[in-house]
Amino acid sequence: MQLMIRQNDLNSIIKAAKRNGAEICGFLFGMREGHTFRVGGVRFVTNRLDSPREFEMEPLEMAEAIGEAERRGLEVVGIFHSHLKCPPRPSERDLEGMEVWPVVWLIVDGKGRYRAYVLKNGKIEEIKVGIRKF
Ligand SMILES: [Zn+2]
Repeated sequence: MQLMIRQNDLNSIIKAAKRNGAEICGFLFGMREGHTFRVGGVRFVTNRLDSPREFEMEPLEMAEAIGEAERRGLEVVGIFHSHLKCPPRPSERDLEGMEVWPVVWLIVDGKGRYRAYVLKNGKIEEIKVGIRKF
């Protein structure tokens, strides 16, 4: 399995992670094609906890974002957020989130590192992140 994302989409997430004192979060819209999750758009959602250690997406914005994806004929292929105090690996809390939202979880850190994960049979598995050329 792999996540394919455009460089500028990835950069916009990393840039936001670097300039925010709190974790940033949002959705990756796109299409699943076999083992590839192709990201066609990024949608930031407010972290209502406004915390450097955890995030929770603002529910109304979440609903709006999902509606927007559907109108564009896309689906939610992933959720992204940033880690400011620890490496880009899912926390215990993230694991709980992954059970509720079984999509790709992209985590970036303030140093520009990024990793993607899926939950497979209840276990966290890292997947490859590739850059889309077009
Ligand atoms: Zn996290």
